Amino acid sequence: MNHSRKTIAVIEDEPDIALGLTDALEFEGYHIVAAHTGRDGVRLCRENKPDCVLLDLMLPDINGYQVCEDLRAEDRYIPIIMLTARSQETDKIRGLDLGADDYITKPFSIGELVARINALFRRMDRLATAD
Ligand code: CA
Repeated sequence: MNHSRKTIAVIEDEPDIALGLTDALEFEGYHIVAAHTGRDGVRLCRENKPDCVLLDLMLPDINGYQVCEDLRAEDRYIPIIMLTARSQETDKIRGLDLGADDYITKPFSIGELVARINALFRRMDRLATAD
């Protein structure tokens, strides 16, 4: 699969997770841009127009819900996968209501996340080539 030109934004304040995600996704051939706060994340996405956003829920300034709303207001279609330590159903529903496309609960396996991203891009490519 050719996804070498796809850019993924990682918005995550925990350095170990941000680094782990960046390494794994770069290994897969993706181009990664990263931010460590919500506001930087919104600006980063505005400047880089990524193909997908990995968005942590608990950020030091504005939370992931707010970031999600801001990103959605600017781009209705950008795929957003929320990352969170929370597992309560209400949090998941809220994230999905605000326009997240998928939800993954920490601690997650990097392999599973990569597989989900690959699947998301396959779906998008299918939609893009459908009639
Ligand atoms: Ca966090």
